[in-house]
Amino acid sequence: MRRLRRSESLRSLVRETTLEPGDLIYPLFLCPGEGVRRPIGSMPGVFNLSIDEAALEAEEAATLGIGGLLLFGLPATKDEEGTGAWDENGIVQQGLRAIKESAAAKKLVLIADVCLCEYTSHGHCGIVAEARDGWTVENDPTLELLARTGSSLARAGADVVAPSDMMDGRVAAIRRALDNDGCADTPILSYASKFASAFYGPFREAADSAPHFGDRKTYQMDGANLREAMREIDLDLEEGADMILMKPAMPYLDVIRAARERVDVPIGAYQVSGEYSMLQAAFEKGWLDRDRAMLESLLGIRRAGADFIVTYFAKDAAKLLR
Ligand SMILES: [Zn+2]
Repeated sequence: MRRLRRSESLRSLVRETTLEPGDLIYPLFLCPGEGVRRPIGSMPGVFNLSIDEAALEAEEAATLGIGGLLLFGLPATKDEEGTGAWDENGIVQQGLRAIKESAAAKKLVLIADVCLCEYTSHGHCGIVAEARDGWTVENDPTLELLARTGSSLARAGADVVAPSDMMDGRVAAIRRALDNDGCADTPILSYASKFASAFYGPFREAADSAPHFGDRKTYQMDGANLREAMREIDLDLEEGADMILMKPAMPYLDVIRAARERVDVPIGAYQVSGEYSMLQAAFEKGWLDRDRAMLESLLGIRRAGADFIVTYFAKDAAKLLR
């Protein structure tokens, strides 16, 4: 076996998995204001960005050859229903229009997250109602709001909409809304199997989206279930998803692999905030070699079967890969 490992050129020739800047999607958190670049304490190197700053990031991402951006929004105000999510002048809608005007947009796929949790005062991903045993996130009434949100984001310029809420039937509802509103050519990247994970912790600081009560276990998946993840994927594809996104990545590489072997659609994986932050913490302590560990974490996700990776390391990795 060692004959083919003797030199970098030989190793390169027989390398089975590649990692390129174009495989990476860079998440951005848009906030109101101008010239705002607010660091997120638990995610070194990640910021809340006003739209003008986000446009600069977009330019840099395009120059680095990154595949696209995934946009999240922090609205100025929140309410029970999360109306900011589908507001024509919502924070992400404004951001999309601004970035779409730049030269960078021609090189980047602009993906808009579709969910309500960043916009609701309670921080849940849907409409909260009283229930026999306390409270519940209502499924079907939430679909209408998600559909409005998806359509609004597509009309504002999103190349792809990505529902992350985990309500049942949302892909079909969003597809219908897109088709009815003149966005029949906008693809849906569904977070098909999104597990209720402790690794989302730092994101909730970044997106200010922590639920104020309870947790998300009644809609996000139980981390123990692989077969159920496959059912989620089958349903999303039946409903019209064009691509699927797996989340988180590292603790669920087996799920990505199983999905890869089951379906032919493009698969993305989200290297989530906790995966990023724990590596950053180790880098800061000098416990891991930053560049090598970062690329290895991404290569592992590609090898598991992901075509593209949403990662906060996108810029740093792209600089090394160019
Ligand atoms: Zn959500």
